[in-house]
Amino acid sequence: MPESESTIAIDGPGAVGKTTVGGMLAERIGFLFIDTGVMYRAVTAAAIQKNLDTDEKDAVTDLAKSVDIRITGGPGPGSQRVLVNGKDVTGNIRTQLVDRRVSAVSSYPGVREAMVDQQRDLASREGVVMVGRDIGTVVLPEAKLKVYLMASTEARAKRRYAELVDAGSDVSFDSVLHALERRDKTDSERAHSPLKPALDSIVVDTSHLTADQVVDRIVELWRTVNLQT
Ligand code: C5P
Repeated sequence: MPESESTIAIDGPGAVGKTTVGGMLAERIGFLFIDTGVMYRAVTAAAIQKNLDTDEKDAVTDLAKSVDIRITGGPGPGSQRVLVNGKDVTGNIRTQLVDRRVSAVSSYPGVREAMVDQQRDLASREGVVMVGRDIGTVVLPEAKLKVYLMASTEARAKRRYAELVDAGSDVSFDSVLHALERRDKTDSERAHSPLKPALDSIVVDTSHLTADQVVDRIVELWRTVNLQT
């Protein structure tokens, strides 16, 4: 099957539910799940661990080109592990520090080139649900179905806040909201592969939907595009 026949691209801003929905969807239809945000987070966590200044574009780019990132485990929620040079960093990639630095790291063209090469390689092997910011626009422009998830900033901040509190973090709702707004701004204003819906994507507002309802909607869209071809 050609690559484009078996790819679903899901893009959208932070905390919109891409990881949860993408994992559930991949499990439901038997596709490989690739969360590209994890890759940018892994590079950021590796830079922090090496005490690199994340504003140092060249040093961070060299690191991104040399680092070995592996995502293991099934698509089900919470079942994926991220290994950087063989070390499990899953517990270190969703911290507030990584949240603050990841948008700068992912704005460097050389970092993006290194990640996009790996993402296209993964997508060429089997059916994939790939989630991120630039999947429908840059990484897999031929994807058979492109979905852009959106939700109000308030609704997204509430989800992110609940996640952090569940993980034992002592954060205020306002700091989570502001961090999300800053990340949205950097991700959508950067020169290279900014966050935006692909022209041929279908926009789904998740503000008032459960994850199951969003998955149902995407499965329905997937059936429809397959009937049309
Ligand atoms: O999706 P998630 O919030 O985990 O992504 C973390 C960050 O990684 C985003 O804020 C963005 O800066 C970057 N990213 C990106 N391109 C992608 C996926 C994520 O620039 N395809």
